[in-house]
Amino acid sequence: MTLRFPLRSVPLLVGALTAGLVPACAPSVARVSLARPATITDWRSQPPLGYPARADRRNLPPGDTLRFGSLGIAVLAIGPDSAAPAQLAARLQLLLGAEREERDAPEGAAFNWRGYHVAVVAIGSPGELGAGLVSLEVAELASLPPEVANSSVAGGAGLRLRIPHEIRYVTLHHTGDAQPLRPEDDPIAKLRALQSWGAADRNWWDLPYHLLLDLDGRIYAGRDWHYMGETNTTYDPRGHLLISVIGNYQRQEPTPAQLSAIADIMAWAVAEFGVPLERIGGHYNYADTDCPGRYFIRYLEDGTFRRMVQERLDRARRGGRP
Ligand SMILES: [Zn+2]
Repeated sequence: MTLRFPLRSVPLLVGALTAGLVPACAPSVARVSLARPATITDWRSQPPLGYPARADRRNLPPGDTLRFGSLGIAVLAIGPDSAAPAQLAARLQLLLGAEREERDAPEGAAFNWRGYHVAVVAIGSPGELGAGLVSLEVAELASLPPEVANSSVAGGAGLRLRIPHEIRYVTLHHTGDAQPLRPEDDPIAKLRALQSWGAADRNWWDLPYHLLLDLDGRIYAGRDWHYMGETNTTYDPRGHLLISVIGNYQRQEPTPAQLSAIADIMAWAVAEFGVPLERIGGHYNYADTDCPGRYFIRYLEDGTFRRMVQERLDRARRGGRP
């Protein structure tokens, strides 16, 4: 729970310390301790799934390429599967060094190629969420358990991979429910529904977000933040701490308790992971979406969240004094 030094200040400080220039009572310019906000963890009726692996995952439109180490996977086209025309297939081009290979992979297929495992987790048909996108997962074969490495099907949530990442961004979302969240709604029922929908409909191994909030600003622990989150859009969620507010903030105003709790999480993340304030943003900064809704975007755009985070960091530096 400590603030990392901006990289360039480290040599200066280390130099000062070794030269004995920093007296014990000098004002603390660097180390800030911010307690991790308390989270509710006992809301689940189902445990998270998935296997940790050296892997990556992305939703790609035709024309885009997923790069993973020295491997590239380009989506050339989406069309009916020649063997089963009712089903969609993706035409992929695999690139490794000077090697190039094209192959058609139907939705739900998986295959091994040159030490990698590639799964076509989903292909969005017209009208469906993720329409026109190929959801691809790629892993180093050697990092996989046998049940995934030997599978010729992409499989559902149970075969998905937990992809470790380092937090470099703090990104606000809303769950974007059809209806605003009301005080009489049960947030735990909403979380359980999101988890089971994500597993059944999107093949997600857990909630897509790391931390979620209800109207009272209570914080629920979602996906383990050591692993990358999920998206239905095309941005790369790797490196993003995903905070999501239950409800629809295109249609409802946030409560003061929510704003305060979100700022607490953001300040903790800035201190814990050394995220610069300018990397506090919203989903709309990275993808074609109105998430987290106009009533939150307002506070991201006008600097309210960054000011609240700065206040928390300053207070921590003063040892908690106002
Ligand atoms: Zn979002």
